[in-house]
Amino acid sequence: MNRVYNFSAGPSMLPLPVLEKAAIEMTNYGGSGMSVMEMSHRSPVYEEIIAKAEKNLRSLMSIPDNYKVLFLQGGATTQFSAVPLNLMNKNKKADYIITGQFSKKAAEEAARYGEVRVLASSKDKNFSYIPFVNSFSPDADYVHICFNNTIFGTAYNYIPETGDIPLVADMSSSIISKPVDVSKFALIYAGAQKNMGPSGLTVVIVREDLIGNARPETPVLLDYKTQAESDSMYNTPPCYSIYIAGLVFEWVLALGGLKAMEKINAEKASILYDYLDSSSLFRATAQKEFRSLMNVCFVTGDEALDKRFCSEAAKAGFVTLAGHRSVGGMRASIYNAMPVEGVRALVEFMKKFEEQNK
Ligand SMILES: *Cc1c(COP(=O)(O)O)cnc(C)c1O
Repeated sequence: MNRVYNFSAGPSMLPLPVLEKAAIEMTNYGGSGMSVMEMSHRSPVYEEIIAKAEKNLRSLMSIPDNYKVLFLQGGATTQFSAVPLNLMNKNKKADYIITGQFSKKAAEEAARYGEVRVLASSKDKNFSYIPFVNSFSPDADYVHICFNNTIFGTAYNYIPETGDIPLVADMSSSIISKPVDVSKFALIYAGAQKNMGPSGLTVVIVREDLIGNARPETPVLLDYKTQAESDSMYNTPPCYSIYIAGLVFEWVLALGGLKAMEKINAEKASILYDYLDSSSLFRATAQKEFRSLMNVCFVTGDEALDKRFCSEAAKAGFVTLAGHRSVGGMRASIYNAMPVEGVRALVEFMKKFEEQNK
């Protein structure tokens, strides 16, 4: 078996036990005589799969009863539009904090529907930190943040206190990596392909009082009311992706839930950051207090050397370490499914590379 250590930012590694279970169930799920890919989404056997996935996600994240969980398509990017269409409905104004490429795209999309006020941006220092914001427009329909910045490797170390203004968070690259207090957020959305499962599934966790006020021009599939009332089955949901995400939720629960997951993730991140801080060749690019546990960005300072590092690493079985095409350098995405041994082995490889390139 030649599995590599895959540091891709997304789609990314899935837990091996999940893939193995899916392989066993591939052609005949639970005695149904068919693959999950082949069954009607309205069949009792599939209804059980989606219901169990939701139940397990609710239990993992301690999602309060007054929140709906929606299993949608279209990626996190579709939520850049769905959020303003559903929530920018009273004063047609929203506050955005820009901490990277995805929050910038989200703000640009929202600006098509109303007035977007950019409260703060970390662009001045190439998105290497998270600005502290504690004052919001009193008439904002919502405040939008990106909780973990996949491309720049930074993460919020606080939750903005927005009072009565709904707080919306893109958690695509950090959902189920550690406990979060869902009740502090009005809406959380995440593409599945970073930390939950295959692409094609987007999870939306939305407080019930925010549903049912979509703007009249909202496409029926982007209206949270449509999706909530039909339990994400207004049309065919991403059936197979939901099934795999369900297996991932079971896997995290069996490990001990999000507290246990956080401990493992913190250990992996500190192995890597501790080495980067002590290295004379590599250096981490994110400011210390905002370092992401999920996406570790680093450089040598020499682009040609960065390239050589990535290609030699790939030959040694450490793949997809190149940084995002817009920023260069290296990025090791170490989501839930990356084992501690993978990070240890990468650091050993980096030490050798450093030794040879002094
Ligand atoms: C990957 C990512 C996106 C884009 O997700 P798609 O599912 O490809 O639309 C948006 N936000 C964040 C934080 C991401 O990591």
